[in-house]
Amino acid sequence: TYVVTDNCIACKYTDCVEVCPVDCFYEGENTLVIHPDECIDCGVCEPECPADAIRPDTEPGMDEWVEFNRKYSELW
Ligand code: SF4
Repeated sequence: TYVVTDNCIACKYTDCVEVCPVDCFYEGENTLVIHPDECIDCGVCEPECPADAIRPDTEPGMDEWVEFNRKYSELW
């Protein structure tokens, strides 16, 4: 899965949402979030993010961000 990280805080861009083929972006408190079970790992959102906030969960230290994304996407 891809995850939204802290660079997204207060970001006003939604370019990522528009390109996602499965509509798995949701609104969190201060950020957008990606539902980890719905993301198909296509990667098209990553280069669209002007804040460089979207990272693959295969990078080190991403476990807590996966949980953050899951927590807020499951509120919907
Ligand atoms: Fe959507 Fe693809 Fe980004 Fe996952 S990697 S959130 S499926 S655009």
